Parts: sequence; C-alpha cells; structure tokens
Amino acid sequence: MNTALVELAAVSKTFSGQRVLDDIDLEVERGEVVCVIGPSGSGKSTLLRCVNRLETPDSGRVVVAGVDLTDPDCDIDAARRQIGMVFQQFNLFAHRNVLDNCALALRTVLGLKRTEAERKARDQLEWVGLADRANAYPSELSGGQQQRVAIARALAMDPALMLFDEPTSALDPELVGDVLTVMRRLADAGTTMIVVTHEMGFAREVADRVVFMDAGRIVEQGTPAQVLGHPRVERTRDFLQRVS
Ligand code: ADP
Ligand code: MG
Repeated sequence: MNTALVELAAVSKTFSGQRVLDDIDLEVERGEVVCVIGPSGSGKSTLLRCVNRLETPDSGRVVVAGVDLTDPDCDIDAARRQIGMVFQQFNLFAHRNVLDNCALALRTVLGLKRTEAERKARDQLEWVGLADRANAYPSELSGGQQQRVAIARALAMDPALMLFDEPTSALDPELVGDVLTVMRRLADAGTTMIVVTHEMGFAREVADRVVFMDAGRIVEQGTPAQVLGHPRVERTRDFLQRVS
C-alpha cells in the first residue's frame, strides 16, 4: 500500500501546444517538506495547481490523502478541504477584516457557528502573531502581515497538506523573514508542505527534499545538501548560479 500523502503519477499538461508538465511523478510523504525550485515558466505553479485541481491534468493521476482528484467522480470540494494554498498575491478579501477573512470558510464551508469559527480563527491569528490585528482590514496591513493572515486562513481549515506558491516573492525584502519564520514553525510542527520558492536559504534549512524543475520535467531531486550543494545536472548548476 502506498503511504504517501500526495502522489502524482505520469502527470502531463499542455497549454496551447506547449507541454508545461511532462510526465511528472512525485510523491510526498506525511510530514515531509518539499521545496520546488526552477526557472520561471518551468511549470512549478501548474504542478501545484494540479495538486488541488485548480488545473486538471491532461493525463496521469493525482491522489491526495487517498482521494483520486483525477477521478471524474471525485468530490472535488471535499478533497480541496484537505488542502490549504497560499499564493504569491495574498488573495485576501479586501472588504472583510482579518478575523472574517479567517473565519468565513469555517462558517460557509465547514458550517461552524460564528462564535466557534471566530474562536478557531483567533487561535490561528495568534499562532501567526497577528491576534492584535483581528479587526484590521487587509489594506491596513503590511504585505508580510497580509501573507501571514493568508496562512492563518488556510490553517484554520486544518488541512492535511499546505501548498505555497512563491509566498514571499511579492514582499519587500524586510518583510520576507517574518513569513518564512511562520513557515518554518509549520514545518517544525510536522505539517506536510509543498513550497515553490526562490528562497534558497529556506530550502536549504527547512526542506526534507528539493525538487528542481525545468521545462515541465523534474530534472533532479534529493536532499538540500545534494541538490543545492552538489547538483549532478548541468541545468541545475546553471540555475543555482543565476539565483545565488
Ligand atoms: P512557473 O510557475 O514555473 O513560472 P507556470 O506553471 O506558471 O511556471 O507556467 C509554465 C508555462 O505554462 C508558462 O509558459 C506559462 O506561460 C504557461 N501557462 C501557465 N498557465 C497557463 C494557462 N492557464 N494558460 C496558458 N498557458 C499557461
Ligand atoms: Mg509560478
């Protein structure tokens, strides 16, 4: 029996003739932190989006927590409840305060009563260090604070898996650290995470495994020490030289 929390098997995706994902196999174990790196346009976001079926693969299988997301009969809403996603652009609801941002899906999706939803939301806000901003609106927060709200909102749903797509790329450099600190704590708490990132320091220190993608393929993967320290493949070496 396969014990992986996430299993992608032979996943391919083509956009207007371009093979953006080319026969991807990837398994992520429970509690594992996988960082995905690679040049712009290599298919990293599409890969993540296939994991929660924001994109549908043309072929192949995506299984998360035992649920086959590529099965046409799959209850996709139920499956997605297991999966939290944090984007580069925080995607908060601008017209709702921080507490509502975190509590809304608990009420509308999970059906919790308002008091219960808000209690859970406050717990998560406290966890990301923003309990005191519960009544603020997103526009009143820094980018780093907004991203921590987005993380709290995802965590409030108690997902089995967290996906991060370049969560710090839109932030001013001085705000990156606070977000990475929250992500590091999540990893330390045993959260299963797939993180697309250009933060090589984070990948080196936090990832259990680093996956290097280029042109829709997984070119190389291994421990951070292997992939970042001793890349075997020329394309990985070129990429690392450019980003470091
Ligand atoms: P990355 O995240 O590594 O930068 P993406 O997965 O975003 O790469 O994109 C890979 C390729 O697929 C790019 O060439 C991009 O333009 C293309 N692509 C991504 N999403 C779409 C889409 N919805 N429609 C058409 N092309 C897309
Ligand atoms: Mg991307």
